[in-house]
Amino acid sequence: MSECLFCKIVEKKIPANVVFENEHIVAFRDINPVAPQHILVIPKTHLENILDLDGAMANRMLDALKQLVAQEKIEKGFRVVANTGEHGGQTVYHLHWHLLSGRHMGWPPG
Ligand code: 5GP
Ligand code: ZN
Repeated sequence: MSECLFCKIVEKKIPANVVFENEHIVAFRDINPVAPQHILVIPKTHLENILDLDGAMANRMLDALKQLVAQEKIEKGFRVVANTGEHGGQTVYHLHWHLLSGRHMGWPPG
């Protein structure tokens, strides 16, 4: 059995608040939101980070993202973040895009 936390969410071995799912992608609410709306979009296959992402899966993630923006009625804008590696602040090593919305985002990021 995989020791990866997000693989366990994909396999429904640990619960998550899933807001979108299809054959390849699942999206669920972050357990520790840093914005009023904080959704994680992940591929169902285990990819460590964005460097492992190919064009086909990137398209699937992008399609899911667009569907989520419509579904969640995110009309005032949003930010997509892919923390990558140690300096990127990645803590879960299964590729995920943070979809953050519901407030003004600061720049530069911390
Ligand atoms: P990272 O720090 O790797 O960019 O993002 C990992 C994210 O996963 C964090 O925002 C963290 O709050 C979230 N997270 C960690 N464990 C869980 C969990 O068990 N369930 C959910 N829904 N989110 C989690
Ligand atoms: Zn995984």
